[in-house]
Amino acid sequence: MKQRFFIEQGDITTYAVDAIVNAANTTLLGGGGVDGAIHRAAGPELLAECRTLHGCKTGEAKITRGYRLPAKHVVHTPGPIWRGGHAGEEQLLENSYRNSLTVAWENGCRTVAFPSISTGVYHFPLEQAARIAVRTILDFLDEHPDMERVTMVCFDDQTHWAYDTAAREFLD
Ligand code: ADP
Repeated sequence: MKQRFFIEQGDITTYAVDAIVNAANTTLLGGGGVDGAIHRAAGPELLAECRTLHGCKTGEAKITRGYRLPAKHVVHTPGPIWRGGHAGEEQLLENSYRNSLTVAWENGCRTVAFPSISTGVYHFPLEQAARIAVRTILDFLDEHPDMERVTMVCFDDQTHWAYDTAAREFLD
């Protein structure tokens, strides 16, 4: 099978894909981390479109245009805040990945790039998040043969290592 899942280290705002995913918050009005970087790179038109969306629930996903980004679209999904693991965090993180892929796919996107959702200021344990992300993306690719490419874009060494390790568990 031609490989369609990739793990890379880099800055997601530089990716010229059909859709990049934003680890947003429920207001969709911008924040720190990757959310701030995406809004800075996209320009104020992105915030203007986000204002028309009236927020987004945790684990759900909404799509906008990419404006000044090289990506055509941005899929915004608030991942779960880690509250110790007994507040449905695993299911909510899976929902963020699956709903982001579904919204992208329904809007004609066939190349999608993800950041590591919830593992920054939301403090979801990295190894656990990586396993959920990899499993959910690989399942979606199995179910959607016409999705061409999904890339995990890891910002730092530790994140890159965690996703590589998780992928090896599933692909070996
Ligand atoms: P969350 O609130 O969902 O935890 P964060 O933005 O705090 O989101 O962190 C999510 C991940 O995104 C972290 O691994 C962080 O290092 C990473 N990140 C920050 N900036 C970028 C970027 N420009 N490209 C890709 N990943 C980024």
